[in-house]
Amino acid sequence: MRPSESTNLYFNQAADRLGMAEWLRKLLVTPKREVTVQVAFERDNGQIETVLGFRVQHDNSRGPMKGGLRYHPAVDLDEVRSLASLMTWKTAVVEIPYGGAKGGIGIDPKTLSRKEVERMTRVFVDEIHEIVGPDTDIPAPDMGTNHEVMSWFRNQWEKYHGFNPAVITGKPVEEYGARGREEATGRGVGTLAVKLMKRLNVRPEQCRTVIQGFGNVGSHAAKFLSEAAFPVIAVSDLSGTYYNPKGLNVTEMLSYSFKNGNQLTGYSGAERMPGEALLEMDCDLLIPAALGDVIHKENANRIRAKTIIEAANGPIDPEADAILSAKKVTILPDILANAGGVTVSYFEWVQNRQHYRWSLDRVRQELDRTMTDAFENVWQQSASLDISLRTAAFMLAISRVQRATELAGMSH
Ligand code: GLU
Repeated sequence: MRPSESTNLYFNQAADRLGMAEWLRKLLVTPKREVTVQVAFERDNGQIETVLGFRVQHDNSRGPMKGGLRYHPAVDLDEVRSLASLMTWKTAVVEIPYGGAKGGIGIDPKTLSRKEVERMTRVFVDEIHEIVGPDTDIPAPDMGTNHEVMSWFRNQWEKYHGFNPAVITGKPVEEYGARGREEATGRGVGTLAVKLMKRLNVRPEQCRTVIQGFGNVGSHAAKFLSEAAFPVIAVSDLSGTYYNPKGLNVTEMLSYSFKNGNQLTGYSGAERMPGEALLEMDCDLLIPAALGDVIHKENANRIRAKTIIEAANGPIDPEADAILSAKKVTILPDILANAGGVTVSYFEWVQNRQHYRWSLDRVRQELDRTMTDAFENVWQQSASLDISLRTAAFMLAISRVQRATELAGMSH
Protein backbone atom coordinates (compact mmCIF):
# COMPACT_ATOMS: atom_id res chain seq x y z
CA MET A 1 0.00 0.00 0.00
CA ARG A 2 1.37 3.45 -0.87
CA PRO A 3 1.81 5.88 2.05
CA SER A 4 -1.00 8.19 0.88
CA GLU A 5 -3.36 5.20 0.58
CA SER A 6 -2.64 4.24 4.21
CA THR A 7 -3.34 7.76 5.46
CA ASN A 8 -6.54 7.97 3.41
CA LEU A 9 -7.65 4.62 4.76
CA TYR A 10 -7.39 5.94 8.31
CA PHE A 11 -9.21 9.08 7.15
CA ASN A 12 -12.02 7.00 5.64
CA GLN A 13 -12.48 4.88 8.78
CA ALA A 14 -13.27 8.10 10.62
CA ALA A 15 -15.26 9.62 7.73
CA ASP A 16 -17.43 6.46 7.73
CA ARG A 17 -18.20 6.95 11.44
CA LEU A 18 -19.05 10.58 10.72
CA GLY A 19 -21.31 9.54 7.82
CA MET A 20 -19.46 12.00 5.61
CA ALA A 21 -20.71 12.61 2.06
CA GLU A 22 -18.54 11.51 -0.85
CA TRP A 23 -18.03 15.02 -2.30
CA LEU A 24 -16.68 16.26 1.03
CA ARG A 25 -14.33 13.30 1.45
CA LYS A 26 -12.92 14.01 -1.98
CA LEU A 27 -12.51 17.68 -1.16
CA LEU A 28 -10.75 16.96 2.14
CA VAL A 29 -8.33 14.28 0.91
CA THR A 30 -7.27 16.09 -2.27
CA PRO A 31 -4.17 18.25 -1.70
CA LYS A 32 -4.49 21.91 -2.69
CA ARG A 33 -1.16 21.94 -4.44
CA GLU A 34 1.71 19.56 -5.16
CA VAL A 35 5.03 20.87 -6.39
CA THR A 36 8.02 18.90 -7.68
CA VAL A 37 11.16 20.87 -8.45
CA GLN A 38 14.61 20.21 -9.79
CA VAL A 39 17.30 20.82 -7.18
CA ALA A 40 20.64 21.05 -8.98
CA PHE A 41 23.57 21.92 -6.72
CA GLU A 42 27.33 21.83 -6.78
CA ARG A 43 29.18 19.07 -4.94
CA ASP A 44 32.47 19.89 -3.22
CA ASN A 45 34.35 18.30 -6.14
CA GLY A 46 32.73 20.70 -8.61
CA GLN A 47 30.30 18.15 -10.07
CA ILE A 48 26.63 19.10 -10.42
CA GLU A 49 24.22 16.81 -8.58
CA THR A 50 20.54 16.84 -9.58
CA VAL A 51 17.84 15.62 -7.19
CA LEU A 52 14.09 16.17 -6.80
CA GLY A 53 12.51 18.42 -4.18
CA PHE A 54 8.86 18.36 -3.17
CA ARG A 55 6.33 20.51 -1.31
CA VAL A 56 2.77 19.34 -0.90
CA GLN A 57 0.26 21.81 0.51
CA HIS A 58 -2.65 19.77 1.67
CA ASP A 59 -5.23 22.03 3.29
CA ASN A 60 -5.46 25.62 4.56
CA SER A 61 -9.02 25.92 5.79
CA ARG A 62 -7.93 26.30 9.44
CA GLY A 63 -4.92 28.56 8.78
CA PRO A 64 -1.59 28.78 6.96
CA MET A 65 -0.20 25.39 5.99
CA LYS A 66 2.48 23.94 8.22
CA GLY A 67 4.85 21.02 8.13
CA GLY A 68 8.43 19.85 8.08
CA LEU A 69 11.11 19.32 5.47
CA ARG A 70 12.51 15.81 5.25
CA TYR A 71 15.85 14.91 3.69
CA HIS A 72 15.85 11.14 3.27
CA PRO A 73 16.43 8.71 0.36
CA ALA A 74 12.85 7.34 0.67
CA VAL A 75 11.29 10.77 0.09
CA ASP A 76 9.07 10.86 -2.99
CA LEU A 77 5.91 12.68 -3.97
CA ASP A 78 3.59 10.07 -2.52
CA GLU A 79 5.33 9.94 0.87
CA VAL A 80 5.27 13.74 1.10
CA ARG A 81 1.58 13.74 0.11
CA SER A 82 0.78 11.35 2.94
CA LEU A 83 2.82 13.31 5.49
CA ALA A 84 1.20 16.61 4.37
CA SER A 85 -2.23 15.17 4.98
CA LEU A 86 -1.17 13.89 8.43
CA MET A 87 -0.12 17.48 9.26
CA THR A 88 -3.64 18.76 8.48
CA TRP A 89 -5.17 16.28 10.93
CA LYS A 90 -2.38 16.80 13.49
CA THR A 91 -2.78 20.59 13.70
CA ALA A 92 -6.55 20.10 13.94
CA VAL A 93 -6.32 17.52 16.78
CA VAL A 94 -4.30 19.90 18.95
CA GLU A 95 -6.36 22.89 17.77
CA ILE A 96 -3.58 25.14 16.57
CA PRO A 97 -4.60 27.54 13.77
CA TYR A 98 -2.80 25.87 10.89
CA GLY A 99 -3.45 23.65 7.92
CA GLY A 100 -1.07 20.94 6.74
CA ALA A 101 1.89 20.70 4.36
CA LYS A 102 5.14 18.76 4.01
CA GLY A 103 8.23 18.89 1.88
CA GLY A 104 11.47 17.15 1.30
CA ILE A 105 14.29 16.04 -0.92
CA GLY A 106 15.00 12.44 -1.89
CA ILE A 107 18.60 12.22 -0.77
CA ASP A 108 20.58 10.86 2.19
CA PRO A 109 22.11 13.98 3.80
CA LYS A 110 24.73 11.80 5.52
CA THR A 111 26.35 11.33 2.09
CA LEU A 112 26.80 15.12 1.77
CA SER A 113 29.17 17.55 3.45
CA ARG A 114 27.71 20.36 5.54
CA LYS A 115 28.46 22.86 2.76
CA GLU A 116 26.73 20.62 0.22
CA VAL A 117 23.60 20.43 2.39
CA GLU A 118 23.67 24.22 2.63
CA ARG A 119 23.99 24.70 -1.14
CA MET A 120 21.23 22.15 -1.80
CA THR A 121 18.92 23.87 0.71
CA ARG A 122 19.51 27.29 -0.86
CA VAL A 123 18.70 25.97 -4.35
CA PHE A 124 15.55 24.32 -2.98
CA VAL A 125 14.49 27.70 -1.55
CA ASP A 126 15.21 29.37 -4.91
CA GLU A 127 12.73 26.93 -6.46
CA ILE A 128 9.90 27.14 -3.90
CA HIS A 129 10.24 30.55 -2.21
CA GLU A 130 7.16 31.97 -3.95
CA ILE A 131 4.80 29.39 -2.47
CA VAL A 132 5.99 29.53 1.16
CA GLY A 133 5.65 32.42 3.62
CA PRO A 134 4.54 33.26 7.16
CA ASP A 135 0.89 33.60 6.11
CA THR A 136 0.76 30.79 3.57
CA ASP A 137 3.02 27.83 4.32
CA ILE A 138 5.61 27.56 7.09
CA PRO A 139 8.24 24.78 6.93
CA ALA A 140 10.04 23.22 9.92
CA PRO A 141 12.54 20.43 10.65
CA ASP A 142 11.79 16.76 10.09
CA MET A 143 13.95 13.70 9.53
CA GLY A 144 17.39 14.61 8.15
CA THR A 145 17.03 18.37 8.75
CA ASN A 146 17.81 20.50 11.81
CA HIS A 147 18.00 24.07 13.11
CA GLU A 148 20.98 24.82 10.88
CA VAL A 149 19.04 23.88 7.73
CA MET A 150 16.18 26.10 8.97
CA SER A 151 18.64 28.97 9.30
CA TRP A 152 19.89 28.57 5.72
CA PHE A 153 16.31 28.30 4.51
CA ARG A 154 15.29 31.50 6.26
CA ASN A 155 18.38 33.39 5.11
CA GLN A 156 17.80 32.42 1.46
CA TRP A 157 14.05 33.17 1.60
CA GLU A 158 14.72 36.61 3.13
CA LYS A 159 16.97 37.47 0.16
CA TYR A 160 13.79 37.51 -1.93
CA HIS A 161 11.21 38.75 0.58
CA GLY A 162 13.01 40.69 3.33
CA PHE A 163 13.24 40.12 7.09
CA ASN A 164 10.59 37.74 8.38
CA PRO A 165 11.79 34.96 10.71
CA ALA A 166 8.22 33.59 11.00
CA VAL A 167 8.65 32.04 7.53
CA ILE A 168 10.10 28.91 9.12
CA THR A 169 10.19 27.35 12.60
CA GLY A 170 12.71 25.17 14.41
CA LYS A 171 15.36 27.86 13.96
CA PRO A 172 18.43 28.08 16.25
CA VAL A 173 17.43 29.58 19.62
CA GLU A 174 19.86 32.49 19.15
CA GLU A 175 18.29 33.27 15.76
CA TYR A 176 14.60 33.67 16.59
CA GLY A 177 14.08 30.00 17.48
CA ALA A 178 11.85 29.09 20.42
CA ARG A 179 13.33 27.74 23.61
CA GLY A 180 12.14 24.17 24.00
CA ARG A 181 11.41 23.56 20.28
CA GLU A 182 14.10 20.92 19.89
CA GLU A 183 12.89 18.79 22.81
CA ALA A 184 9.20 19.44 22.06
CA THR A 185 8.20 16.35 20.07
CA GLY A 186 9.90 13.94 22.49
CA ARG A 187 8.60 15.84 25.48
CA GLY A 188 5.05 15.74 24.11
CA VAL A 189 5.38 11.98 23.56
CA GLY A 190 6.61 11.58 27.15
CA THR A 191 3.84 13.77 28.56
CA LEU A 192 1.16 11.72 26.84
CA ALA A 193 2.83 8.42 27.77
CA VAL A 194 2.45 9.42 31.43
CA LYS A 195 -1.23 10.36 30.91
CA LEU A 196 -2.03 7.26 28.88
CA MET A 197 -0.42 4.77 31.29
CA LYS A 198 -2.25 6.42 34.18
CA ARG A 199 -5.54 5.91 32.34
CA LEU A 200 -4.57 2.29 31.73
CA ASN A 201 -3.71 1.85 35.44
CA VAL A 202 -0.05 1.02 34.84
CA ARG A 203 2.35 2.59 37.32
CA PRO A 204 5.46 4.23 35.80
CA GLU A 205 7.85 1.84 37.61
CA GLN A 206 6.00 -1.14 36.09
CA CYS A 207 6.00 0.21 32.56
CA ARG A 208 8.92 -1.45 30.78
CA THR A 209 9.48 0.85 27.82
CA VAL A 210 11.19 0.20 24.50
CA ILE A 211 12.02 2.99 22.04
CA GLN A 212 12.92 2.57 18.37
CA GLY A 213 15.14 5.46 17.30
CA PHE A 214 17.46 7.64 19.36
CA GLY A 215 17.31 10.75 17.21
CA ASN A 216 15.69 14.02 18.20
CA VAL A 217 12.32 12.48 19.06
CA GLY A 218 13.38 9.13 20.59
CA SER A 219 16.18 10.54 22.73
CA HIS A 220 14.07 13.31 24.28
CA ALA A 221 11.20 10.90 24.90
CA ALA A 222 13.67 8.49 26.59
CA LYS A 223 15.00 11.29 28.77
CA PHE A 224 11.54 12.48 29.81
CA LEU A 225 10.31 8.97 30.58
CA SER A 226 13.37 7.87 32.53
CA GLU A 227 13.04 11.06 34.61
CA ALA A 228 9.39 10.11 35.18
CA ALA A 229 10.57 6.72 36.61
CA PHE A 230 9.69 4.58 33.56
CA PRO A 231 12.29 1.82 33.13
CA VAL A 232 13.51 2.36 29.55
CA ILE A 233 14.80 -1.18 28.92
CA ALA A 234 15.81 -0.89 25.26
CA VAL A 235 16.53 1.72 22.62
CA SER A 236 17.84 1.32 19.11
CA ASP A 237 19.44 3.43 16.43
CA LEU A 238 21.07 2.58 13.08
CA SER A 239 23.92 0.85 14.96
CA GLY A 240 21.65 -1.71 16.69
CA THR A 241 19.62 -2.30 19.86
CA TYR A 242 20.91 -1.52 23.37
CA TYR A 243 19.21 -3.49 26.15
CA ASN A 244 19.19 -3.65 29.93
CA PRO A 245 16.25 -5.43 31.62
CA LYS A 246 16.71 -3.28 34.75
CA GLY A 247 16.55 -0.02 32.78
CA LEU A 248 19.18 1.78 30.70
CA ASN A 249 21.23 4.69 31.95
CA VAL A 250 19.57 7.16 29.56
CA THR A 251 21.54 10.20 30.78
CA GLU A 252 24.82 8.44 30.05
CA MET A 253 23.58 7.29 26.63
CA LEU A 254 22.49 10.82 25.72
CA SER A 255 25.88 12.30 26.48
CA TYR A 256 27.62 9.39 24.71
CA SER A 257 25.52 9.88 21.59
CA PHE A 258 26.01 13.66 21.70
CA LYS A 259 29.81 13.28 21.77
CA ASN A 260 29.69 10.52 19.15
CA GLY A 261 28.05 12.39 16.24
CA ASN A 262 24.49 11.60 17.42
CA GLN A 263 25.03 7.85 17.23
CA LEU A 264 25.25 5.09 19.82
CA THR A 265 27.87 3.08 17.87
CA GLY A 266 30.40 1.66 20.35
CA TYR A 267 28.31 2.34 23.48
CA SER A 268 29.27 -0.43 25.91
CA GLY A 269 27.01 0.25 28.92
CA ALA A 270 24.28 -2.17 27.78
CA GLU A 271 23.72 -5.54 26.11
CA ARG A 272 23.88 -5.33 22.29
CA MET A 273 21.33 -6.95 19.99
CA PRO A 274 20.48 -6.62 16.31
CA GLY A 275 18.27 -3.64 15.42
CA GLU A 276 15.25 -5.77 14.38
CA ALA A 277 15.06 -7.45 17.82
CA LEU A 278 13.67 -4.32 19.41
CA LEU A 279 10.14 -4.17 18.00
CA GLU A 280 9.28 -7.71 19.09
CA MET A 281 10.63 -7.45 22.62
CA ASP A 282 8.60 -8.32 25.68
CA CYS A 283 7.62 -4.92 27.11
CA ASP A 284 4.66 -2.86 28.30
CA LEU A 285 5.11 0.19 26.11
CA LEU A 286 6.60 0.34 22.62
CA ILE A 287 7.46 3.71 21.09
CA PRO A 288 8.44 3.63 17.41
CA ALA A 289 10.24 6.97 16.95
CA ALA A 290 11.98 6.48 13.61
CA LEU A 291 10.65 5.66 10.15
CA GLY A 292 7.15 4.99 8.82
CA ASP A 293 5.68 1.51 8.12
CA VAL A 294 7.97 -0.38 10.52
CA ILE A 295 5.05 -2.42 11.87
CA HIS A 296 3.31 -4.29 9.04
CA LYS A 297 1.34 -7.48 8.52
CA GLU A 298 4.48 -9.68 8.58
CA ASN A 299 5.60 -8.65 12.08
CA ALA A 300 2.36 -7.38 13.68
CA ASN A 301 1.55 -10.77 15.17
CA ARG A 302 4.94 -10.95 16.87
CA ILE A 303 4.60 -7.59 18.65
CA ARG A 304 4.34 -8.26 22.39
CA ALA A 305 3.77 -4.71 23.68
CA LYS A 306 0.31 -4.03 25.12
CA THR A 307 0.53 -0.32 24.35
CA ILE A 308 2.13 1.49 21.41
CA ILE A 309 2.71 5.22 21.12
CA GLU A 310 3.38 6.40 17.57
CA ALA A 311 6.16 8.97 17.97
CA ALA A 312 7.13 8.57 14.29
CA ASN A 313 4.75 9.51 11.50
CA GLY A 314 2.90 6.47 10.15
CA PRO A 315 4.90 3.68 11.86
CA ILE A 316 1.98 1.20 11.77
CA ASP A 317 0.39 0.37 8.43
CA PRO A 318 -3.39 -0.20 8.29
CA GLU A 319 -3.12 -4.01 7.99
CA ALA A 320 -0.96 -4.15 11.10
CA ASP A 321 -3.29 -1.69 12.82
CA ALA A 322 -6.21 -4.10 12.28
CA ILE A 323 -4.18 -7.07 13.60
CA LEU A 324 -3.04 -5.17 16.69
CA SER A 325 -6.51 -3.78 17.40
CA ALA A 326 -7.92 -7.32 17.28
CA LYS A 327 -5.28 -8.25 19.89
CA LYS A 328 -6.56 -5.33 22.04
CA VAL A 329 -3.29 -3.41 21.84
CA THR A 330 -3.84 0.25 22.76
CA ILE A 331 -2.37 2.56 20.10
CA LEU A 332 -1.91 6.29 20.64
CA PRO A 333 -1.86 7.62 17.05
CA ASP A 334 0.85 9.81 15.50
CA ILE A 335 -1.44 12.77 14.78
CA LEU A 336 -1.87 13.19 18.53
CA ALA A 337 1.26 11.57 20.01
CA ASN A 338 3.88 13.53 18.07
CA ALA A 339 2.02 16.84 17.82
CA GLY A 340 4.30 18.46 20.42
CA GLY A 341 6.77 19.50 17.72
CA VAL A 342 4.32 21.45 15.61
CA THR A 343 2.71 22.86 18.76
CA VAL A 344 5.96 24.50 19.84
CA SER A 345 6.54 25.51 16.21
CA TYR A 346 3.29 27.42 16.56
CA PHE A 347 4.62 29.07 19.76
CA GLU A 348 7.80 30.01 17.86
CA TRP A 349 5.78 31.58 15.05
CA VAL A 350 3.64 33.49 17.57
CA GLN A 351 6.78 34.81 19.32
CA ASN A 352 8.33 35.84 15.99
CA ARG A 353 5.22 37.72 14.97
CA GLN A 354 4.98 39.47 18.35
CA HIS A 355 8.70 40.17 18.55
CA TYR A 356 8.49 38.83 22.07
CA ARG A 357 10.33 35.94 23.64
CA TRP A 358 8.83 33.37 26.01
CA SER A 359 10.72 31.63 28.81
CA LEU A 360 11.35 27.89 28.60
CA ASP A 361 8.93 27.42 31.50
CA ARG A 362 6.15 29.13 29.62
CA VAL A 363 6.77 27.06 26.48
CA ARG A 364 6.71 23.84 28.52
CA GLN A 365 3.56 24.83 30.40
CA GLU A 366 1.63 25.75 27.27
CA LEU A 367 2.84 22.61 25.51
CA ASP A 368 1.66 20.51 28.44
CA ARG A 369 -1.74 22.19 28.44
CA THR A 370 -2.24 21.88 24.67
CA MET A 371 -1.25 18.20 24.59
CA THR A 372 -3.26 17.34 27.71
CA ASP A 373 -6.45 19.02 26.44
CA ALA A 374 -6.15 17.21 23.10
CA PHE A 375 -5.48 13.88 24.82
CA GLU A 376 -8.47 14.24 27.14
CA ASN A 377 -10.78 15.09 24.20
CA VAL A 378 -9.56 12.12 22.17
CA TRP A 379 -9.77 9.78 25.17
CA GLN A 380 -13.38 10.85 25.92
CA GLN A 381 -14.42 10.48 22.31
CA SER A 382 -12.88 7.03 22.11
CA ALA A 383 -14.47 5.88 25.39
CA SER A 384 -17.92 7.26 24.69
CA LEU A 385 -18.17 5.82 21.16
CA ASP A 386 -16.16 2.67 21.92
CA ILE A 387 -13.76 3.31 19.04
CA SER A 388 -9.97 3.27 18.73
CA LEU A 389 -7.96 6.29 19.82
CA ARG A 390 -6.90 6.67 16.17
CA THR A 391 -10.43 6.83 14.81
CA ALA A 392 -11.41 9.17 17.67
CA ALA A 393 -8.49 11.51 16.89
CA PHE A 394 -9.24 11.50 13.15
CA MET A 395 -12.94 12.15 13.82
CA LEU A 396 -12.21 15.19 15.98
CA ALA A 397 -9.68 16.50 13.46
CA ILE A 398 -11.86 15.93 10.42
CA SER A 399 -14.89 17.57 12.05
CA ARG A 400 -12.85 20.69 12.77
CA VAL A 401 -11.50 20.89 9.22
CA GLN A 402 -15.00 20.22 7.87
CA ARG A 403 -16.43 23.04 10.00
CA ALA A 404 -13.77 25.49 8.78
CA THR A 405 -14.40 24.42 5.19
CA GLU A 406 -18.12 25.02 5.59
CA LEU A 407 -17.57 28.39 7.29
CA ALA A 408 -15.51 29.38 4.25
CA GLY A 409 -18.59 28.79 2.14
CA MET A 410 -17.93 25.31 0.82
CA SER A 411 -21.13 23.39 1.42
CA HIS A 412 -23.92 21.76 -0.54
N1 GLU B 1 8.10 17.62 11.28
C1 GLU B 1 7.32 17.71 12.46
C2 GLU B 1 6.04 16.89 12.35
O1 GLU B 1 5.97 15.95 11.60
C3 GLU B 1 7.09 19.14 12.91
C4 GLU B 1 6.36 20.01 11.93
C5 GLU B 1 6.35 21.49 12.32
O2 GLU B 1 6.88 21.84 13.35
O3 GLU B 1 5.79 22.27 11.54
O4 GLU B 1 5.10 17.10 13.05
